Amino acid sequence: MATMESLIGLVNRIQKACTVLGDYGGGDNSFSSLWEALPSVAVVGGQSSGKSSVLESIVGRDFLPRGSGIVTRRPLVLQLHKTEDGSQEYAEFLHLPKRRFSDFAVVRKEIQDETDRITGKSKQISPVPIHLSIYSPNVVNLTLIDLPGLTKVAVEGQPESIVQDIETMPNCIILAISPANQDIATSDAIKLAREVDPSGERTFGVLTKLDLMDKGTNALDVLEGRSYRLQHPWVGIVNRSQADINKNVDMIVARRKEREYFATSPDYGHLSNKMGSEYLAKLLSKHLESAIRARIPSITSLINKTIDELESEMEHLGRPIAVDAGAQLYTILELCRAFDKVFKEHLDGGRPGGDRIYGVFDNQLPAALRKLPFDRHLSLQNVKRVVSEADGYQPHLIAPEQGYRRLIESSLNYFRGPAEASADAVHFVLKELVRKSIAETQELRRFPSLQAELAAAANEALERFREDSKKTVLRLVDMESSYLTVDFFRRLPQEMDNKGGNPATPATPANPAIDRYTEMHFRRIGSNVSSYVGMVSETLRNTIPKAVVHCQVKEAKHSLLNYFYTQIGKKEGKQFSQLLDEDPALMERRLQCVKRLELYKAARDEVDSVSWAR
Ligand code: GDP
Ligand code: MG
Repeated sequence: MATMESLIGLVNRIQKACTVLGDYGGGDNSFSSLWEALPSVAVVGGQSSGKSSVLESIVGRDFLPRGSGIVTRRPLVLQLHKTEDGSQEYAEFLHLPKRRFSDFAVVRKEIQDETDRITGKSKQISPVPIHLSIYSPNVVNLTLIDLPGLTKVAVEGQPESIVQDIETMPNCIILAISPANQDIATSDAIKLAREVDPSGERTFGVLTKLDLMDKGTNALDVLEGRSYRLQHPWVGIVNRSQADINKNVDMIVARRKEREYFATSPDYGHLSNKMGSEYLAKLLSKHLESAIRARIPSITSLINKTIDELESEMEHLGRPIAVDAGAQLYTILELCRAFDKVFKEHLDGGRPGGDRIYGVFDNQLPAALRKLPFDRHLSLQNVKRVVSEADGYQPHLIAPEQGYRRLIESSLNYFRGPAEASADAVHFVLKELVRKSIAETQELRRFPSLQAELAAAANEALERFREDSKKTVLRLVDMESSYLTVDFFRRLPQEMDNKGGNPATPATPANPAIDRYTEMHFRRIGSNVSSYVGMVSETLRNTIPKAVVHCQVKEAKHSLLNYFYTQIGKKEGKQFSQLLDEDPALMERRLQCVKRLELYKAARDEVDSVSWAR
């Protein structure tokens, strides 16, 4: 059987850890909040209803900032820890670990200073809680929260924010403080409780200032639940009056006086064992215990779910990078290999993109070849001009050898354009595949510097391959001009056999037969050159892709990062960590995850230990 101490102690430890992590609910971060799953007690009520007094008398000490105009502006999470009888009483703030306060006046001052530290002197309100633990033999284990919105709202009439605060803390027990010398129907605490907890399940009604009621009146209607019904019994309280406070009446003395007040009261005598601060403290503590016990399964499942989420996120974010240079180099090479694998899949299939290279050869290159202006270049007029110019003053006798050569050479020059364009087109496809592959390499995501470096290295390599490829395809074209295919011309039918006569006879207007003859002769030259060029075009259509694949695609596949690897080998250890520089936001997120995982795992152990003890 888990003791009450161990259960509440568990909650206290989890709550402290939450605050260290900046998890105080409110949904201001993307992590599910363990904080909100934990039960606690919020003290609510109008100004001067006696909230501070009730808190203090539960604690048995005065330590809260008091005085007119002093309003709570940060949540105060007050954890009470019962220590062995006779032991020294002390307080500790979470923001000042290891410093023990035994003077409660100093505690009060620290609450004020710490409030100002976050909210500034501007008197703004902040959701960041102040964590105060009090260790004392005179308390019960209990967590109390004094929420700023609550006190303030009642005064300034902004029920929205309070309601929200308490509604987002569904496990929060509401300690609703109303003064007995005021009509219960107008009590701020009851107004609020009615709104956030209409069934009265988690509201504890507390009636203060019973001693200040008009003579001859009593609060039995309220205390016996007739004025406003709650699921839990009302508790009447007599706190120290302002005069008592001014006289520094001791808390312990005040408690005794309160006990005496109820024991001797003609109105409340029959209720005396269910009245007073001490009874209230025990009641709350007991309720908190059962609330926590009821919540253990859901806390456990929240913890487990969160651990799963965090672990899968860590998996996604990747493990932190090693610090020694050797391991870093290894990581860099691994990352390069991962990228290279993706890139190869794009080329070889499995991922899209490689087919676009085939598209260059199958569509772009043939289309470009078809568009070359041979019609114009081998027009009758041009053929005539080129052939005549080549012959000089002595027209050719049999075949215009020089004319043919010039016509063919000048035609073949046109192939340089499509040849270079093929290298360029494939270059852009490869460059795009590099970009895509970097983006698709999951492992690289965390490393923007390495991504940039890899992209630069790969593009540089592609640039070199392109240069080489261009040289090679241009060489293919030049080769076609340097030696013509003799057989092609040998197989051509000889003009003289068919037509007879001297083709070189100059045409004159006086001799139309000769004109017709020369025209046909040049046409034939044009068409012969055209079919020769067509044959070369066919050859290049096949050989340019071979050269491009050989120089660019195959090289990209096999040695894209070779140069990068040799450069890496020359780098120093410090440069490795620069390459593995992660996105700072991501590093921060991982750090958060690691911290949270630690907390949740510790919390799971704690919960396990109390569950086993049950
Ligand atoms: P808070 O503003 O709700 O925190 O109220 P405080 O606890 O500061 O109390 C306001 C004033 O009412 C102080 O002067 C207290 O001494 C006085 N007071 C609170 N409870 C009682 C009570 O039960 N009896 C008497 N006589 N005075 C009380
Ligand atoms: Mg107060």
